[in-house]
Amino acid sequence: MAKKLVIVGSGPAGLTAAIYAARADLQPVVVEGFMKGGQPGGQLMTTTEVENFPGFPEGVDGPDLISRMRKQAERFGAEFIMEDLDSVDFANRPFTLSNSSRTITAHAVIIATGASAQVLDMPGVKQFWGKGVSACATCDGALPIFRNQVIGVIGGGDSAIEEATFLTRFASKVLLIHRRDEFRASKAMQKRAFDNPKIEIVFDSVLEEVYGSQFMEGIKLKNVKTSQISDYACKGLFMAIGHTPNTGFLKNALEVDAKGYIKVKSPSTATSIEGVFAAGDVTDPHYRQAISAAGTGCAAALDAERWLLANDLG
Ligand SMILES: Cc1cc2nc3c(=O)[nH]c(=O)nc-3n(C[C@H](O)[C@H](O)[C@H](O)COP(=O)(O)OP(=O)(O)OC[C@H]3O[C@@H](n4cnc5c(N)ncnc54)[C@H](O)[C@@H]3O)c2cc1C
Repeated sequence: MAKKLVIVGSGPAGLTAAIYAARADLQPVVVEGFMKGGQPGGQLMTTTEVENFPGFPEGVDGPDLISRMRKQAERFGAEFIMEDLDSVDFANRPFTLSNSSRTITAHAVIIATGASAQVLDMPGVKQFWGKGVSACATCDGALPIFRNQVIGVIGGGDSAIEEATFLTRFASKVLLIHRRDEFRASKAMQKRAFDNPKIEIVFDSVLEEVYGSQFMEGIKLKNVKTSQISDYACKGLFMAIGHTPNTGFLKNALEVDAKGYIKVKSPSTATSIEGVFAAGDVTDPHYRQAISAAGTGCAAALDAERWLLANDLG
């Protein structure tokens, strides 16, 4: 028998949708996803300190926050399946969602599969991830380890310059590192970088290594024109080289933008297919925060509930 609602993803967006949908008695099934050998729970499972989620004045561990959201959804009857999905069929109703071992049918679906930060796979990056290396200045920039320290930012687009500018509030100096000799960012953003006395621009350079002991202590950069290796002491390194929305498994079943983010009919969470809704980072190249993902997760559950009722499926 088809489920009323299947939610794909168990980050803040999927779990908030599950809490709302379970409380509305939709008996949602959450396909948690573990990202091919990782773990369920999404991006917050990879961070220790969340200081900006409302309701936690002392801060909260990412995995602890996710575990609390999951328990809250379970309390109201949400069912969890710890698997990744490989494909969907949204052309026929009820919808079908599947992987090699399971097929689930559902009248309504919420996609909350998040986005993955692109990360340079160089020596030391994994070792010092969360110990100086990060991909989110808004999330981590204000942490004490970065205060009055030199911090590197890698990237050459608008978001790299935005992150570098933001980090100058905390850092003594920001090294803005780009592999070319000019930025891809808009002229206005470039001016912001050139005019900021706390930003030092390092053109023509690529990351060779992050080093340190307990925390990172510096980076080695290679000049792509001269091949010379230079050493920079710094306590932080932020990758601002883009994100990839986790929409590959949809294989064009829904309309996405040029970068693969699911298009929603704002201000709703409706997608190009009636009865399929989307929430969180998979729709959002702009904010990428736990609270904004949770907010759209709530909206998606309310949208799905209303759609199911309007179609006598609720
Ligand atoms: C290191 C780090 C630190 C951060 N710190 C903060 C912070 O301090 N404050 C803050 O507000 N934000 C922070 N963020 C950002 C925040 O984590 C994200 O904005 C938020 O997690 C997005 O939630 P989401 O539910 O949209 O997606 P995600 O959290 O990415 O969850 C996506 C879910 O979808 C699942 N999934 C993906 N593909 C499939 C598939 N094919 N089948 C089934 N399931 C699938 C995944 O397994 C996962 O469960 C941080 C991010 C990172 C990486």
